[in-house]
Amino acid sequence: MQTLSNAIQVNHCLLKEVVKDAKLLVDATCGNGLDTLFLARNAQGAHIYAFDIQQKAIDNTKEITKEYVKNISYICDSHINIKKYVRDKSIDAVLFNLGYLPEAAHEITTHADTVIKTVDIVKDLLKTNGIISIVAYPGHDEGYNEYLSLLKYTKMMDKHIFTACWYRLHNHINAPALCWIEKQG
Ligand code: SAM
Repeated sequence: MQTLSNAIQVNHCLLKEVVKDAKLLVDATCGNGLDTLFLARNAQGAHIYAFDIQQKAIDNTKEITKEYVKNISYICDSHINIKKYVRDKSIDAVLFNLGYLPEAAHEITTHADTVIKTVDIVKDLLKTNGIISIVAYPGHDEGYNEYLSLLKYTKMMDKHIFTACWYRLHNHINAPALCWIEKQG
């Protein structure tokens, strides 16, 4: 692990083990494609679904992952429609990296209600020991809303079926927060 202060790096470090033997992975917010690229590089032969509502994000992700294109379905649609594309209850991991595309309009961002509804759908598509990982950004208004909504939602999850935990820097204001949800065996 390079640094504990970067939630994305911590997430990738934790995910490496999960992704290694995965068959089905989802990047729910592919953006510039860095998370999709991470998945493609570290999974041996898994199929990856990469979602984003912006065509620009899909194009960026296609460009950065062109070496792995045969393993990736690029889907320009909201993650809330995931069941239109993935019906098997066999997802190894779903990644959410919330917020907006840095160089695009910041108004096009993830929203708490959609994220919660999508997490509620994908939790039932996970295989046993499958993971949902979410990087949230409490430093901007909608990000703070998402963070609070997710804290509330994950606290209420059935502890006999899911383990929900949070990672956040304690002495940094507005640091990103990482949520991990694991479906138990
Ligand atoms: N994972 C990306 C990467 O590695 O570059 C970064 C993701 S960026 C912080 C968040 C992305 O979520 C934006 O590209 C935005 O268009 C996308 N987004 C917002 N609402 C969405 C939705 N309902 N479904 C899918 N993507 C969404």
